[in-house]
Amino acid sequence: MKTLLLALGLLAAASSASAQEADCARERSVMVDFVRAHARSDPKALPSGMSDKVLEVIGRTLRHRFIPDGNCAVGYMDRPIPIGHGSTISQPYIVALMTELAAVPADGIALEIGTGSGYQAAILAQLTRKVCTVEIVQPLAVRSALVLRELGYNNVEVRLGDGYQGWPECGPFDVIIVTAALVEIPPPLLEQLKVGGKLVMPIGAPGSVQLLMVVDKIAPDKTTMRAATAVRFVPFQRPQ
Ligand code: SAH
Repeated sequence: MKTLLLALGLLAAASSASAQEADCARERSVMVDFVRAHARSDPKALPSGMSDKVLEVIGRTLRHRFIPDGNCAVGYMDRPIPIGHGSTISQPYIVALMTELAAVPADGIALEIGTGSGYQAAILAQLTRKVCTVEIVQPLAVRSALVLRELGYNNVEVRLGDGYQGWPECGPFDVIIVTAALVEIPPPLLEQLKVGGKLVMPIGAPGSVQLLMVVDKIAPDKTTMRAATAVRFVPFQRPQ
């Protein structure tokens, strides 16, 4: 009897150790330190620094779950990682930077174009009321919707389609984040942005370096813009 109890105890201890391992808490905390340090070294992009709120959300989101076959070692490296179909999950610092620049209001609606892995959508989902995200590659839309549901992000809706058109039925939006590069801002996105809202997007030729632009809609027909930093994103695809 004693032996059985001891064996059960050992089993329980072993399974909780492996649960901790699968949670990747140590790797995530190292990644958060990295993101914080990166933000400090980039004051031009982030004059007011990276908020604790965004760092906290980055620190509790299971990034490895958004990467196919992701493990603790791969999932938390501070670099973009291929997720198949020509897509990548963005570098953690860039996700944090775009989120911070978007100044996401707690009671708002956010639109993301380029769901990819679903990671950026999961980050937004913890900072605002509702997230609508559009992905043009079907297997990515299906997989990200599944992971988001498994992890309990029930305020995210994933749609398969061309994000150039935005998602009018889901908006208007307080925040729009575009995670694929194009030479212009799609006009439907500006239309679906509320006055007072922000759009963050890499503008420039795909395949080279782009500028991460922060656009403020200050009146129905008026925007102001600033370039935060140089970035490199996958191309924004247009259906033929
Ligand atoms: N935000 C993602 C990063 C995705 S990379 C993440 O957190 O993982 C950019 C994504 O944009 C790719 O998955 C690509 O398929 C998608 N994409 C490219 N053009 C698009 C378009 N016109 N509409 C919607 N998604 C698009």
